[in-house]
Amino acid sequence: MNAGLPASSAPKASLRSRLALWFAGLSLLTLLSAGIYVGRIATGQMQQASGDALLGTARAAAILLADQLHERQLEITLLSQAPHFTRGDLDAPALLRSMEQRARAHAEYAWMGVADAEGKVRQAVGELLVKQSVGSRPWFQEALKGPYTGDLHEAVLLAKLLPGSATGEPLRFIDFAAPIRDEHGTLIGVLGAHAHWSWVTGLVESTVALQDMQREAEVLIVNARGEVLYPERLIGTRYQGDLAAGAGSWSDGGDYLTRAMPVGMRSAPGLGWSIAVRQPLAVALASAHDLRDRLLLLGVLAAAVSGVVAYRLAQRVSRPIEQLAQAAQQLRAGAQGFAIPRDQAVREIAQLSQALQEMTRSLLDKERALREANASLELTVQQRTDALTRANEALSRLAVRDGLTGVFNRRRFDERLAECQQLFLRDCEPYALLIIDADHFKRVNDDYGHAVGDAALKRLAGLLQQNTRSSDFVARYGGEEFVVLLPEAGGEQGALAVAEKIRAAVAAAEFAEVGGITISVGLALASRLDGDAGALLKRADHALYEAKRAGRNRVVKAPPPVEEAVLRG
Ligand code: GH3
Ligand code: MG
Ligand code: MG
Repeated sequence: MNAGLPASSAPKASLRSRLALWFAGLSLLTLLSAGIYVGRIATGQMQQASGDALLGTARAAAILLADQLHERQLEITLLSQAPHFTRGDLDAPALLRSMEQRARAHAEYAWMGVADAEGKVRQAVGELLVKQSVGSRPWFQEALKGPYTGDLHEAVLLAKLLPGSATGEPLRFIDFAAPIRDEHGTLIGVLGAHAHWSWVTGLVESTVALQDMQREAEVLIVNARGEVLYPERLIGTRYQGDLAAGAGSWSDGGDYLTRAMPVGMRSAPGLGWSIAVRQPLAVALASAHDLRDRLLLLGVLAAAVSGVVAYRLAQRVSRPIEQLAQAAQQLRAGAQGFAIPRDQAVREIAQLSQALQEMTRSLLDKERALREANASLELTVQQRTDALTRANEALSRLAVRDGLTGVFNRRRFDERLAECQQLFLRDCEPYALLIIDADHFKRVNDDYGHAVGDAALKRLAGLLQQNTRSSDFVARYGGEEFVVLLPEAGGEQGALAVAEKIRAAVAAAEFAEVGGITISVGLALASRLDGDAGALLKRADHALYEAKRAGRNRVVKAPPPVEEAVLRG
């Protein structure tokens, strides 16, 4: 019974928890990967969209700034080519007037003046720096070659002359300058102007104010080396990487989504400024991350729900299997009256259940049949053993008994005679031997038939046993002759008495149909002079012969052996 089911050593997960785990894991995996995939796509799209918005802002600011810078540059260039400038007199009051007019119209001009070809300031708005030399200033040097828009710089000469800014920031300018040539094209001086940096930043701020700015986005002005020029608080920060592509990072740390637009100026290609707009990446991608997180949460929730649903479904499938397994275990444990569940909803399980039921029934039937066969086999074996024992007993009885009369047979007599002879030779106690022969028994057979003769022989044997002791030995010697051994004969007299008693009893007995039967008895007492038991037998036989000869129905004692007789005589 044990071989059917393998013994489970370690506790194993049940079918339903296994199914539930698989389903939950599978849906979690599916939804998580979907969440991650969708999140990634959404992040990419979000990055693109946010980047586009940032680029839009940067582009608007860059275009405006480029326009304004170009306009200022154009203004200075045109002014430098005005007839009163090209006439050759740098000290003419008309020059100052037209410069003051411009300065009044555009508050951004912190300084405007003309310097001669040697760099000496000849006239300036507000008399600033007049008669001082600007010959070594980059704007002057550059303007000798052509119209020039200069990079941002801090005030050097003007710092002491102009009122400081309200915020305490250092005064910074950008320069516009253009050469002044006379009618012959000879360079006679340079018209220069310094515009407040705050004008530039103001332009940018006004653009930004018009824009629908991204959350937490900042607009920066960055020079060609990637250094931040604006806002003030970020000065010292650099962009490391390719700013045009927005592939890089800011030196002040943090992850930003950055888009930049060069401030394209045909008149000042060397300026190399860009308007950069940056937004913390976490903010830019917040909605994409939010979407991803929601998807992940949805994944976990869906996994939990499908786990529960799978558990329920698995329960429906596995309960009958568990019941079957339980029944099988009970069967293995040999439990009585266990029930194999039936009426299963699932067809295969119902089939399995039925098969198990039939198998079990057949097994039990076979087991019962085997038990019964065993029991009947044991009974048969017992019966056969008994019969064999009885047969053996009968056989051993037959081996030593005479078939007709039941007294011992000749074979047994020979053994017993040898034993008596040995005992006699050892103990000196003489035993007696009687040979008994029925008288004229031939006639019995002839007169009454053989069967009556047999019955008479049986009766005779019974009489012999009745008239001897249990220690005596009666055997059929052959035909109608019997022998009796008397181990404790009690000497010649004792033996004679027994022989006489037997003879008298037979003579007195009634034999069915026959009436009376007599016997003749030859008696011999064991003697040391007998060479062996054979000699004793011969003497008894001889005595029997004497009894017959003397007329039958008598006892004749054999004379002692010859030597003894000789000694006595
Ligand atoms: P006697 O007095 O001289 O002994 O005469 P008797 O007739 O007995 O002579 P004998 O010994 O020659 O004959 C023995 C007879 O006993 C012969 C036989 O018919 C009979 N007899 C021997 N064995 C059996 C036996 O087993 N059954 C029967 N019914 N008769 C037997
Ligand atoms: Mg005889
Ligand atoms: Mg006889």
